[in-house]
Amino acid sequence: TTDDVKGFFRRNAFVILTVAAVIIGIILGFGLRPYKMSYREVKYFSFPGELLMRMLQMLVLPLLVSSLITGMAALDSRASGKMGVRAVVYYTTTTIIAVFIGIVMVLIIHPGRGSKDEFTKQEKIEQVSPADAFLDLIRNMFPPNLVQACTQQFKTQYGKRVVTVKVLVNETLFSLNNGSQELRREEVIPVLGTVNGINALGLVVFSMCFGFIIGNMKEQGQPLRDFFDCLNEAIMRLVAIIMWYAPLGIMFLIAGKIVEMDDISEMGGQLGMYTITVIIGLLIHAIIVLPSLYFLVTRKNPFVFIAGLLQALVTALGTSSSSATLPITFKCLEENNHVDKRVTRFVLPVGATINMDGTALYEALAAIFIAQVNDMDLNFGEILTISITATAASIGAAGIPQAGLVTMVIVLTSVGLPTDDITLIIAVDWFLDRLRTTTNVLGDSIGAGIVEHLSHHELCAIDAEIGNSVVEE
Ligand code: ASP
Repeated sequence: TTDDVKGFFRRNAFVILTVAAVIIGIILGFGLRPYKMSYREVKYFSFPGELLMRMLQMLVLPLLVSSLITGMAALDSRASGKMGVRAVVYYTTTTIIAVFIGIVMVLIIHPGRGSKDEFTKQEKIEQVSPADAFLDLIRNMFPPNLVQACTQQFKTQYGKRVVTVKVLVNETLFSLNNGSQELRREEVIPVLGTVNGINALGLVVFSMCFGFIIGNMKEQGQPLRDFFDCLNEAIMRLVAIIMWYAPLGIMFLIAGKIVEMDDISEMGGQLGMYTITVIIGLLIHAIIVLPSLYFLVTRKNPFVFIAGLLQALVTALGTSSSSATLPITFKCLEENNHVDKRVTRFVLPVGATINMDGTALYEALAAIFIAQVNDMDLNFGEILTISITATAASIGAAGIPQAGLVTMVIVLTSVGLPTDDITLIIAVDWFLDRLRTTTNVLGDSIGAGIVEHLSHHELCAIDAEIGNSVVEE
């Protein structure tokens, strides 16, 4: 009956709108390509998409901080400890599997054929030690100035030099893209761990500690717990409004990118094979490994779970930023998949910041590809080094567009590969970035599902305790 049909549309409105947005975006994009729009025209055209990006990014800071603080405060230390360990075990396991898949794929398919003729050559620039980059990662966990950690300035120290970096990752890439050597290596690496100027890693560490403390402050902590609870709730209501705008924004983001992308026919040869290798690797991880893991642990149908995440996955594809997608990921997990808020608030912000399976897979694969292009044989030790640094680089990469390309520097320098060769793969990175971001978001979400399942016992215990104290009152 028509009521059934209406009911169906109402229940699945977001899914329908989102799928329609992607399809219309692709058609619109290819339809407009023949008109060869200028850079400015493309900018105007994709303006609705840019707005979506800005709205989502606007919410990331308050959402990240408030959800982590309330998440930590809502758990007792035993529960948060256990949940934290589970999350970390999950992040580590999946990242290692991802790196492994990346390495195996690139070794089997072997897309690089020892010649750089097909690529544009770059001159060599000075290298920086991976140790500096590692220290930088740790350093970022403790932002000396919290307000500054929320703004775009970012300071770091290399030896005697203190460098202040004001650039966003995109702009850094933009200048690499132009082949300009204006930015020195030292100025590229400090962008590690910054989300659009936000030092997310630092804020995560601070919020967790802060939440833990006010969770233990009994009545005295109540005003602050209420404050952050309320802040979190208010932000989520804003997210609910933006959700309605998201399909439109995604449509223009996708269409705009298709209009401005380079001719696909140029992607033949090694770069084309490389692209295919990355796609296969990411698909194996996203469609086989992660769902199997979910099924093994929870014994529930992983694809029903993934269907509930559709809007988040499409947003990741459209924005190529897992941190901008975070608000939508929250909504999908809590509302469609009914994952406990105490779990999402606790694990999602951390996951979006440090757990990036797609990026880890990509960085290992890309580094070995660059070695292949340079006709350099890697021994087992070097491959091991690549896997370790790729893991670290994925942790350090911010959840913003193409951050993974910047943190590649650590991976390449660790085995003495020329860092300039990052420019070889820039042409296809905008596309691969979207796919690895989608994989990243999927990994975080499945992680939340798995941690919730494993933490059932602790959550029930807390519920019982709250129930008891309510009865006592
Ligand atoms: N864009 C990715 C993300 O936001 C990070 C990367 O460049 O790999 O998850």
